[in-house]
Amino acid sequence: MTAKPPLDILLCAPRGFCAGVVRAIDAVEKALALHGAPVFVRHEIVHNKYVVESLKRKGAVFVAELSEVPDASRPVIFSAHGVPKSVPAQAQARNLFHIDATCPLVTKVHREAEVHHKRGRHILLVGHAGHPEVIGTMGQLPDGAITLIETLDDVAMLTPPEGRDLAYVTQTTLSVDDTREIVQALQARFPALIAPHKEDICYATTNRQEAVKRVAPLVDGLIVVGSPNSSNSQRLREVAERAGCPVSRLVLRTDEIDWSLFGAIRRLGITAGASAPEVLVEEIIDAFAERYEVTVETVSTADESVFFPLPRELREPTPTAAE
Ligand code: SF4
Repeated sequence: MTAKPPLDILLCAPRGFCAGVVRAIDAVEKALALHGAPVFVRHEIVHNKYVVESLKRKGAVFVAELSEVPDASRPVIFSAHGVPKSVPAQAQARNLFHIDATCPLVTKVHREAEVHHKRGRHILLVGHAGHPEVIGTMGQLPDGAITLIETLDDVAMLTPPEGRDLAYVTQTTLSVDDTREIVQALQARFPALIAPHKEDICYATTNRQEAVKRVAPLVDGLIVVGSPNSSNSQRLREVAERAGCPVSRLVLRTDEIDWSLFGAIRRLGITAGASAPEVLVEEIIDAFAERYEVTVETVSTADESVFFPLPRELREPTPTAAE
């Protein structure tokens, strides 16, 4: 038997689940424990198929819209990304027992936008069109109250309403560097632009990008464990490329590893998006260990101890669903 070639794996830390994702998954599991199956969940509770499938096996039923919930007595949970105001309004109109698992850091952005609107300001939202979080944030206010800014070109083309103060908020899972560039361009055009008191890009997004920046220049390739529809995972892959990593790929499971790219390397970086469970990171390491003599080292750039309590409805048993 030929000896396996050596491979040093540098594991980025922090990686994987953030406090908002843990809370959202715990919310579905607690609702199942308290109320039994089925528990309905509007949209993927977090952007990871593995998580969604395992919750399905426990009795969660995922729906695209509330109109697909057939039984008003069953709990319905809203995903961590947040929802437009029309969604809880629709739930109330149908008397659905709804539980909001929106991450508190997304809710913070919603509240900021509301305050700006109340003060008569026009709001610029830096984010990606079509992402559920952006749909949710734009849906906090009437049409026209928020303008979405995706690129530097959008900044150049922007014609905000006349005579109104301008404020900006951002999606929580953006590239820290790209967002800085866009905000600087906005501030150059609109020097009186009002900024958030505290950065909207969340701690988890920032910390995961920092760890990738440290590891990316040291390795021949980097794998981000995560889903293609996960914004923060996509950003990690881009950050790795920009920080000098020759090859970086986003993979959900081991069968997606392209061995023509990762089959003859000496040093590999691994991280995971905020919605990817650690078990999938372990699977990836195992897949490399079948081909290489692996040594694993963790490269840590921050400690995290953020914790969010469950939504109120799930903290104490609720006797009947419709009450
Ligand atoms: S990535 Fe950030 S904003 Fe999104 S759920 Fe996690 S902690 Fe909350």
